[in-house]
Amino acid sequence: MKIDIVSVFPEYFEVLNLSLMGKAQSKGLLEITAHNLRDWTHDVHHSVDDTPVGGGAGMVMKPEVWAECLDELLGLPTPNEDDSPDELVFPTSESATSTTEEALDFSEIHDDAIFDDDIEDTENAGEIADIVDGNENKSEAAKATSLPTDESESSSATPVLIFPNPSAPLFTQRDATELSHAEHLLFGCGRYEGYDSRIPDYYRAQGVDVREYSIGDYVLNGGEVAVSVMLEAITRLMPGFMGNPDSIVEESYTGEGALLEHRQYTKPAVWRGLKVPEVLLSGDHGKVDRFRRDEALTRTNEIRPDLIEALDCKALDKADRKT
Ligand code: SAM
Repeated sequence: MKIDIVSVFPEYFEVLNLSLMGKAQSKGLLEITAHNLRDWTHDVHHSVDDTPVGGGAGMVMKPEVWAECLDELLGLPTPNEDDSPDELVFPTSESATSTTEEALDFSEIHDDAIFDDDIEDTENAGEIADIVDGNENKSEAAKATSLPTDESESSSATPVLIFPNPSAPLFTQRDATELSHAEHLLFGCGRYEGYDSRIPDYYRAQGVDVREYSIGDYVLNGGEVAVSVMLEAITRLMPGFMGNPDSIVEESYTGEGALLEHRQYTKPAVWRGLKVPEVLLSGDHGKVDRFRRDEALTRTNEIRPDLIEALDCKALDKADRKT
């Protein structure tokens, strides 16, 4: 599987060279490349963010920089920005008016934003200088003049494009399983207040399979950790990734009747006065399986009743129903 990751902190992904993920790369099962989004900027500050249209705190990642980067990595032509309609009007609030005089002019917002962007960039100036040192802007090769007209043409060999986003649907084991069969994944890590929402919209319209996922009901500083989480969940399901393939068969959230796993024990049978359940020492596989299944059902009911509610009745046997 080929994996491209775009981030303003590509160094985050050096940890992917460790452990099983590192081994999978050595074996040629995974080919991971972390790209620096700032490589696709053209200004002296290598800015990737701008003030939010409509006002508000923080900065939003600019669509132009992301687009140059994604066009190149997705192998899509970059339309000539001069051909884009420039009479775009952004309503800011209910008080926004539709009259021409009071309508918001994007070029004014953009000019003001340069000042704020400089402030934001000053905070990261040291890190940015290190990151961009020796950078070449790569976009020239990717430039073309027109958008693809045939959707199938652009979607045929393109990767699945994934943006982590706390306000998106939750990433689940089901998604990990599906994506473990993909040939090529491209992750885009958000920062600041997130990325301009038109970025995923635009690539969906080009026929790209675009996914946005949250990894949980909390907010992180950036998408790097979220991408690492998704990547690990996806790649460990690839055939050949785990030393022992059986270890991913009976796990929490796995299979048709997805439950939390039963509790786990190892030797010794008694540790600091605490005993492992007697049945696990019986050698009776049928009894052990039943014990574990009952425990999985009971724990899931206590901890994640939503999973029990979502269970397909067909995934339950007679003994399950008693539990
Ligand atoms: N303003 C956004 C909100 O309130 O929904 C939060 C932006 S967050 C500070 C910056 C970036 O971190 C996001 O664009 C996303 O890429 C990533 N991120 C933060 N929390 C995440 C989560 N729970 N799941 C996935 N990505 C997350």
